[in-house]
Amino acid sequence: MFAFLRKVWGLAHPYRARFQLGVLMGVISGLFEPLMIGSVIFVYGLLFPTSGAEAMHFPSWVPQAMQNWAAAAQEAVSGGLKAHRGAVAAVVALIPCVILLRGLFTYLNVYLLQWVAVRTITDLRVRLFRHLMSLSAGFFGRVRTGELISRSMGDTSALQTIISNATPIMVKDPVVLTSLLACLLWLHPALTLISMVVMPACMAPVLIYSRKARRSARELQTQSAELGNVMVESFSGYRVVKAYNLEEAVTERFRVISRGFISHYMRIVRSLQIPGPLLEFVGGVGVALVLAYLFVQTGNRPTGAGFLTVVLSIFAMYRPLKNLTRLYNTLEQARASSERVFELLATVNSVPEPTHPKPLRAAGAAIHFENVEFAYGEKPVLRGINLEIKPGQLVALVGPSGAGKTTMSNLLLRFYDPQRGRLRIGGVDIRDVSVLDLRNQIALVTQEIILFNESLSQNISLGRPGASQAEIETAAKHANAHHFISEMPQGYDTLAGERGTRLSGGQRQRLAIARAIIRNAPILILDEATSSLDNESERAVQAALDGLMRDRTTICIAHRLSTIQKADQIVVMNEGRIVETGTHVELIRNGGVYQRLYELQFESPLPSRAPALV
Ligand code: ADP
Repeated sequence: MFAFLRKVWGLAHPYRARFQLGVLMGVISGLFEPLMIGSVIFVYGLLFPTSGAEAMHFPSWVPQAMQNWAAAAQEAVSGGLKAHRGAVAAVVALIPCVILLRGLFTYLNVYLLQWVAVRTITDLRVRLFRHLMSLSAGFFGRVRTGELISRSMGDTSALQTIISNATPIMVKDPVVLTSLLACLLWLHPALTLISMVVMPACMAPVLIYSRKARRSARELQTQSAELGNVMVESFSGYRVVKAYNLEEAVTERFRVISRGFISHYMRIVRSLQIPGPLLEFVGGVGVALVLAYLFVQTGNRPTGAGFLTVVLSIFAMYRPLKNLTRLYNTLEQARASSERVFELLATVNSVPEPTHPKPLRAAGAAIHFENVEFAYGEKPVLRGINLEIKPGQLVALVGPSGAGKTTMSNLLLRFYDPQRGRLRIGGVDIRDVSVLDLRNQIALVTQEIILFNESLSQNISLGRPGASQAEIETAAKHANAHHFISEMPQGYDTLAGERGTRLSGGQRQRLAIARAIIRNAPILILDEATSSLDNESERAVQAALDGLMRDRTTICIAHRLSTIQKADQIVVMNEGRIVETGTHVELIRNGGVYQRLYELQFESPLPSRAPALV
């Protein structure tokens, strides 16, 4: 447990000055607790000196000088009090003053620690997000979005409670407890010990419940992640949900997972609520024992005020004791959350950065795939791939769906690394180049266009952040997008809508091409970039693409064979292998797989809208 706390507090290191100050405020406000009771006794003693004599009785270890001083002060004050009514008011005012000061220190304690907590957790969230963003495509293929959201938000908040709520309890309540206990022992040692005798009895249920609470907390977080997944999938897949009347089915799934929360939640409630009354009961037993003891034992009975002090102090100890038992539970729950956060932070990137990256000049460089073998998991996807792409060439990858075409582009972008073999650009293994450098020199246009809900200008400038408005418009013109953008009411400032839902497929595609144009990268990957378009959009997009491909090395994953007839090299893939390469004319003449695929497409009843190979 201690190692875990050190880890969490370690996160707050940049704010240590305020953290320490906050902790100090907690200790001071803790000391004010017995001071409060003490001030009542003290003031009572000043105003009514006979009963006060008891309170001013010092044990022998208090230096004589101090005892004399206190006695003199009492004399002077009580003498003055009789003469002066204002002095009575001043002495009585001591009690609210002590309470006010205690309130001030408590406020500072909470404020400073919350100040630290919210910043620490914000830093942690940013660190976690940055870490997640740096992870490879393989990671995002494995983990679900809802889970990531739940861990980044829910689990980090659980850690926030450690710093903001648990730390004050940890520093303040032990001080309150020990100082109250010390006062009690000093004033009435025998009574205090008797009242405490039964205390340990309530520890067993507290410990048992907290272990169960931890298990439930972990379960609760897992289910909240699952709920997140259902929500992300249902909200983002709303079109399918609606079109297939899946509302009820999705809601039922949501209901079942939500209901799963209840029993775990209630177990946590029990573990938090049972120790309190239990402690109070045990305290009550303690008081009863004290009374019984006093009844049996005749001599040396305390006065009514003395007995009340004992009872008040015992009750004053409940709150911190209750807090401390709850604290154990809270910490156990937070530990469950923190495990999930630190686990994510510890995920290693399966696409490591080289320690001494080599510079890459992709312009005018050939691309080589050399004996490349790759599997996403167990299942081999690429086998013995050898391919040379000369600078400036247009190379088309064709073949049935699942043949491994997209995987080839994934390897070139280093979304994944091959298990065997290597990829070289201009003689440099891409694993020796920084990922940033590599991807800066590649532009990707995919079938699924990702637009962010920002202005159209911003969406285009994602290709090269910092591009000027003039450059953005030039790129849009080359992409045949300027015309439709200008016709929109707010032109380039129009928001794209979440995922670009306010635009048609062709418009989205042309924006993506404008993004690739502005990137001006020497290598271009087109992954079925025109496959989802109607004929008219396709012509506009194709014209834009022709402009984009000029003077660049282009890898085009083709859906329709009509679009790639002019390719310098057509690579036909099947089941992870390259089965044929050549130009369109050569491949047709050879009469192999390509020729059969070609015939299949053009025998279709709608030749101008040839069916996909898929
Ligand atoms: P193509 O682009 O030729 O249609 P892909 O390269 O996308 O083919 O996929 C090749 C094979 O790899 C398919 O069998 C597919 O199921 C599998 N695959 C693709 N992406 C993943 C992934 N992220 N995780 C696991 N398997 C994958």
